[in-house]
Amino acid sequence: MSEQTLIAVKHLSRYYGGLCAVNNISFEVKRGQILGFLGANGAGKSTTMQMLAGALAPTTGEITIAGYDLLDHPLQAKSAVGYLPEQPPLYKDMLVEEYLTFCARLHHIPRKEIDEAVDRAIELCGLESVYQRLIGNLSKGFQQRVGIAQAIIHSPAVVILDEPTVGLDPIQMREIRHLITELGQEHSVILSTHILPEVQAVCNQVQIIHQGQLLFSDTIEGLFAQIKGQSLQIGLHRPPTLSTFKHIMGVEEVEQIDDNHVRIWHQPETNPAEDIVIKSVAGNWGLFELIPEQQSLEQIFVNLTTEEELEEAA
Ligand code: ATP
Repeated sequence: MSEQTLIAVKHLSRYYGGLCAVNNISFEVKRGQILGFLGANGAGKSTTMQMLAGALAPTTGEITIAGYDLLDHPLQAKSAVGYLPEQPPLYKDMLVEEYLTFCARLHHIPRKEIDEAVDRAIELCGLESVYQRLIGNLSKGFQQRVGIAQAIIHSPAVVILDEPTVGLDPIQMREIRHLITELGQEHSVILSTHILPEVQAVCNQVQIIHQGQLLFSDTIEGLFAQIKGQSLQIGLHRPPTLSTFKHIMGVEEVEQIDDNHVRIWHQPETNPAEDIVIKSVAGNWGLFELIPEQQSLEQIFVNLTTEEELEEAA
């Protein structure tokens, strides 16, 4: 897979009057990456995406799409982007096929290539059963697929999807996530969400934005590696007193879960598992379970965003 950088963002900021919605963020997205852009309500996701799509001017900073500076070469840069805004731009009184043909014309797809482009988008987005129906009569999930189809009609290198699964039922959500994974094979995708498991299910890169600032940017594995193995759940038939665990090297805190289970917290670099097994055998504690626990993405998100707030308050 080529390591070509398709989106390069440098020192990007956007103010709305005195409010700083996006504060000096820089990042890159390479070909083949599916980047999850995570943040709570009002974090600055939509503002960033609108700027990437060329729909909103930055206050300061640079955006380069597929090698073209968005401000200096807007036509070339924008033609490399497909964008699904938070509110999909659908004409509800048009048929699906008619609307996609219209979108193909807007993107200046040559007349003789339009049918092929529309057919391709219909197939990729699973719209075969509804392409002759009125958009307004489709379910929310199918309307969202039409929104994605208009974003990819011109085969852009980069696809930007702003909260693509919001308001969908769990089945529709799963189908759209599957579609996004397929899109990621041909396009680079940025999707914004505040649904944490969505990032886990679909993305290979993750960025966390909080109050306009980028707090985290890495692979999804990098995110989990950061916090892996900080606690162990231990099952014992004959547990010793809690203070016994505190004397084992690396143990930072002990929590009683129930009569036969304790949770032990430790630093990632000092895992006390081996010592616990040795001491358990020597002390006849009846060890029957030792499970390294992984924090959920939700926990990591809360930790990262509250750490930031604590630092600010200090
Ligand atoms: P959500 O998940 O709720 O969509 P978001 O992460 O997409 O949130 P943005 O919509 O980018 O966040 O908003 C970032 C901040 O900028 C918020 O405080 C919001 O109120 C403010 N904001 C967004 N658009 C405008 C606007 N047109 N005028 C003034 N303030 C705005």
